[in-house]
Amino acid sequence: MNIHYLGTAAFEGVPVLYCSCRVCRESLAAGGRALRTRSQALVDGELLLDFNADTVCHSLMYRIDWSRIGDCLITHSHSDHLYPADLEMLADPYSHEHRILHFYAARDGYNKIAEQIENISMQNRVAVTCIAPGQEFYTSGGTYRVLALPANHAPQASPVFYAIERGGKRMLYAHDTGLFPEEAYPMLEKFGRFDLLSLDCTGCLGLQGEWRDGHMSLRTCLQVIGRLQSIGVADEKTVKVVNHFSHNGGQTYSEMLPEAEKHGIIVAYDGLQIDF
Ligand SMILES: [Zn+2]
Ligand SMILES: [Zn+2]
Ligand SMILES: [Zn+2]
Repeated sequence: MNIHYLGTAAFEGVPVLYCSCRVCRESLAAGGRALRTRSQALVDGELLLDFNADTVCHSLMYRIDWSRIGDCLITHSHSDHLYPADLEMLADPYSHEHRILHFYAARDGYNKIAEQIENISMQNRVAVTCIAPGQEFYTSGGTYRVLALPANHAPQASPVFYAIERGGKRMLYAHDTGLFPEEAYPMLEKFGRFDLLSLDCTGCLGLQGEWRDGHMSLRTCLQVIGRLQSIGVADEKTVKVVNHFSHNGGQTYSEMLPEAEKHGIIVAYDGLQIDF
């Protein structure tokens, strides 16, 4: 499998629109990997993870071939992960030729997508399935086995995170969530060992608080990794990535690196691709 990180920031991006705090000033000056658009990823060039307002920008930056993308998993309904207004581009006259795009989202995200599809009468251009935490399903064509897990994040946004399997390889995409709810662990154990973990790191190094609920920091990510190793679903061969950063965590990309490297963890940046 391959994961391509299209965007790696929380809602406000890095540097943040309007902000001139130290992290934003230094990120702006450094450029390159210090600059982050909002979180979105693409698996094998085929399975899209989240659909935010930076999708047009990502499509141009990475020259995305939409004829290969048939499915999109939505983590939750916050606008840095789901921006329903841009679904209209699937309809005439904005888009002329494309595959039906199948969206999967839990309740609130499902409602927002369904409402938008209804409003612009484009039922034959897009499909949406309502999924729930704990539910296992296959994407269209049966390419990916997916398990939706309960996330520790704003409940009104119907948050889930995803375990994804293809051809015996497995990855976990856990954004946005704090420390996993207890009930997630037996589900993960049943799903199988992970080749790649992608964990929420909004709080960066976690020097300004631990970040246990809603989001995590490197400190709490290490606790989750330890727990996953203790139940046998992660090990030293598992690729570990931290992703979804905010200036509120307090560190720039390069300030994250030494501490993450000490623990064998990759700090995601826009454009990063990993084969596993
Ligand atoms: Zn987010
Ligand atoms: Zn800032
Ligand atoms: Zn969120």
